[in-house]
Amino acid sequence: MNKSALRVIVIGAGLGGLALAQGLHRDGIDVAVYERDASPTSRAQGYRLRMNPDGLAALEQLLPQHLNRLVSATCSIQPPSAYFDDRLDPIPSTDPGRGDEGGRNVAVNRLTLRQILLGGLGEIVSFGRECTGYETHADGTVTARFRDGSHTTGDVLVAADGVNSPVRQQYLPHARVMDTGVRTIYGRCPLTEAAVAAIPERLFTLYSGVLGPDHRHLGLAPVQYRPPVHRAVAELGGAAVEFTDTEDYMMCLFSAPAELLPLSDDELHSASGEQLRDLVMAQTRDWSPRIGTILEMWDPATVFPLTIRSTVPITPWQTTAVTLLGDAIHAMSPAVGVGANTALRDAALLATQLGKAARGAELIPALRDYETAMLDYGFQAVRTSAEFGRQRMGQAPLPTDAR
Ligand SMILES: Cc1cc2nc3c(=O)[nH]c(=O)nc-3n(C[C@H](O)[C@H](O)[C@H](O)COP(=O)(O)OP(=O)(O)OC[C@H]3O[C@@H](n4cnc5c(N)ncnc54)[C@H](O)[C@@H]3O)c2cc1C
Repeated sequence: MNKSALRVIVIGAGLGGLALAQGLHRDGIDVAVYERDASPTSRAQGYRLRMNPDGLAALEQLLPQHLNRLVSATCSIQPPSAYFDDRLDPIPSTDPGRGDEGGRNVAVNRLTLRQILLGGLGEIVSFGRECTGYETHADGTVTARFRDGSHTTGDVLVAADGVNSPVRQQYLPHARVMDTGVRTIYGRCPLTEAAVAAIPERLFTLYSGVLGPDHRHLGLAPVQYRPPVHRAVAELGGAAVEFTDTEDYMMCLFSAPAELLPLSDDELHSASGEQLRDLVMAQTRDWSPRIGTILEMWDPATVFPLTIRSTVPITPWQTTAVTLLGDAIHAMSPAVGVGANTALRDAALLATQLGKAARGAELIPALRDYETAMLDYGFQAVRTSAEFGRQRMGQAPLPTDAR
């Protein structure tokens, strides 16, 4: 297929940036992705994601059929989410991301999805290229600069570089990212036969939330492959996708307001997996003994702390050839599990608009239509996630001046 005259530079090979690149490449548009990490696996990427109908529809649109079949083959299908008190007795739930609101809701391992999204992109993605900023030119083109001294020029620059986006910091310096006050400790229990037998069956849902006192929260969510991934890949003809993380596990996270934890942020971030597990066991000591049994099965090598942050919504700006998607513009609390789904939705819409521009529509109005829609549903998702995070995890509300 002939490449179009339009050249698109994407900063960041996360879920949103790769999905956009897949869609543009499929449409014959010249796209190049630049990623800071040295390789796809140079950093632990392996937490579980709930995929909702928006995210799955975006993948359907953007990916070639064989990669969509791999997404289906590697997702984990569970009954809708459920909530429990700290004795593990069921309680009613109004979770907006429960998974029974219509359409398909499944769980995926983030690294597995990312490896599928890399499928067939080959030299389109350059690793070890950290973007440090950009310049715009009088002819409308944009040059991205990299830490290694190199640069590249295109017609559009897409910031898909996550919550700390250097492109956003240059382009929209007034945009704020706030600390929600919630700290999360995240880990995995390998789902061995013994673990499956020890974990109550009612906790094998899309997401099981255990609500403790003072907004302490334990979340459990299984990732169970069916059939084993290597068999799925073989059956689908190889598909040039390499999987490195294919064992079943129970994602198990603990969240609490920072002031309830005995460690400062610095201490939390330098603690070992064992120390973090002991901290969570101490925090949940009076809960159902079954919780302690599950935490004892946490693999300490998979345990890490997270500071939960949220974008503060801002008003629209004048559209230029620099645009943004995903966490770079609307990072949100993971309380509802829609950040990745929204990034994929952005990628699908932006791919459509860039496709129109590649076929002769004016570029800036096409980008403006994308940004108008994206800011509306993206910041709505930020607000819903903030409100649900406030109810469930004691997260600080968005500032009252948030637009
Ligand atoms: C604990 C947790 C659980 C979550 N669960 C869910 C869930 O169940 N469902 C859901 O929908 N969402 C969930 N999310 C949110 C989801 O992970 C994010 O919204 C999603 O990954 C955002 O994708 P992205 O492509 O915008 O950014 P990212 O995935 O963050 O990708 C950004 C990429 O840009 C790269 N980069 C950064 N800076 C530079 C630079 N200067 N130059 C080049 N590259 C750069 C990064 O290395 C990275 O690869 C969860 C988040 C957390 C923390």
